[in-house]
Amino acid sequence: MIKIDTPNLEQIANEYLDKIKEKCLLRITILHLTLKVLFDNYPTTDLDALLKNNSTSLNYKTFNSYINFFLLPNNKLKNVRSYTKVTVANCHLWVRQNNDVLKKICSFLSSEKNLKDLILTSPNELYKKHRYFYRKLKIDKENKNIRSFIENAIDFNQVNEYAYWLTSSINVNTCPYCNRVPINTVWGKNKIIRPALDHFYPQSKYPLLALSFYNLIPSCSYCNSNLKGNVQITSKSHLSPYVEGFEDKAVFKSKITEINKYRIYFESTIGSKDKRIFGKKRLKKDEKNSCKTGNINLFKLEEIYNACHQDIVNELLFKCERYSDEYRKSISNTFPILKDEKYEFYQFYFGNYLDPKNFNKRPLAKLTRDIVVKELPYFANRPGI
Ligand SMILES: [Zn+2]
Repeated sequence: MIKIDTPNLEQIANEYLDKIKEKCLLRITILHLTLKVLFDNYPTTDLDALLKNNSTSLNYKTFNSYINFFLLPNNKLKNVRSYTKVTVANCHLWVRQNNDVLKKICSFLSSEKNLKDLILTSPNELYKKHRYFYRKLKIDKENKNIRSFIENAIDFNQVNEYAYWLTSSINVNTCPYCNRVPINTVWGKNKIIRPALDHFYPQSKYPLLALSFYNLIPSCSYCNSNLKGNVQITSKSHLSPYVEGFEDKAVFKSKITEINKYRIYFESTIGSKDKRIFGKKRLKKDEKNSCKTGNINLFKLEEIYNACHQDIVNELLFKCERYSDEYRKSISNTFPILKDEKYEFYQFYFGNYLDPKNFNKRPLAKLTRDIVVKELPYFANRPGI
C-alpha cells in the first residue's frame, strides 16, 4: 500500500467542504423542520419558506424522498404538496420512538461548526470523532434505523457532483491499496473516467463519517468493491493510505520455486510485524472465516501478485542479473540527459520510479523497487533495505 502524499491535501479538503456544505446544511435543516412539524406541532411556515426559497437547488422529488423515508409503506406521498396532511400515525414505529434522538442528530448536524469538524477531521482522529459524537448524542450504535437515518441525512450521493473535481485534485494515479491498477481521472467538458471513492470506515457502520474528506480513498474498483466492500475495519486493524504506506514495514520478496516461477510474498524489514499490515497471528472465532485482518489479507495482495505479476518479477530478476556498474556508466555517457545517475538510470532501465514519493505515479512501483533493491543494493535509498 502506498501513502497518499499529495502536498496540498488540507487546501483540497477545505475547498471540498466549501462545495458541499450548503446543500448538506439545507438537507439537514429540512429534515429537522419536518420532524418538528410532525412531532412538535411546529407551524409549516418555515418549511414552506425554505422549500420555496431553494426550489432551484432542491426539487420536490428530493423532498418527497426525505418525507417518505419516515412514512410507512402504505402512507408514502405521491404528491409532495400534501405533506402537511401527514400525521405521526403515518410514520414508522422507529421514527415515533426515536423522534427526540433524530431531532438531536439534526440539530447537531445543522451546526456549520459540527459539520466542518466532521468533514475535516484528520485521518487519525476519524474513529475517535465518530465515537465521541455517538456518545454525545446518545445514539445507540446497534440501531440500524438510526444509522440509515444518518446516512439519509448526510447523503453521500451529493459528493457525486464533485467527485471528478475531488479525485483529480487528490491526483493519485495508481490505487493506493494495491499499487497495481491505474486510477487516473479523465475529464474536461465531459466526465470520462475516475477512481472509485472507498469509505475507509464503511458508511453502513459509520454514517457520520460518510462525507469526511480523509475517509474517502480514491481506489480501484477491485479493491473497493470486490475485496473491501463493507468489511468493518478500523485504524487499529488496518492502515489508511492517508496515514502511512507499507514502506519498509512490508517489503516484497520473491523466491524461485521452479523455472520462471516465483513465490511473491511480503516480509517486514524492521523486525516486528505490524498487525495492521500482516494481520493477527491468533484470530478470534468470529474472525477465522474472513481472515481479513491486516491490509495484506484484506486486499489479497500476495494471492493477486502471485497470480498476475510473475512475468514482471521474472523480467526484473533477468535485468538485475545482467546489470553492471560499467553498463550503467556507459548508458549515462550515451544519454547525458540522465543527470541524476542512480534515479534516472533506474527509471530508464527498470521502467519505474525509485523514489517512494513517486510510487503512486505508476503501477507496480513498489514491487519493482523492492525486488531490484534486494538484488542490487546500489539502488537502495538507505543501506540495508
Ligand atoms: Zn486496488
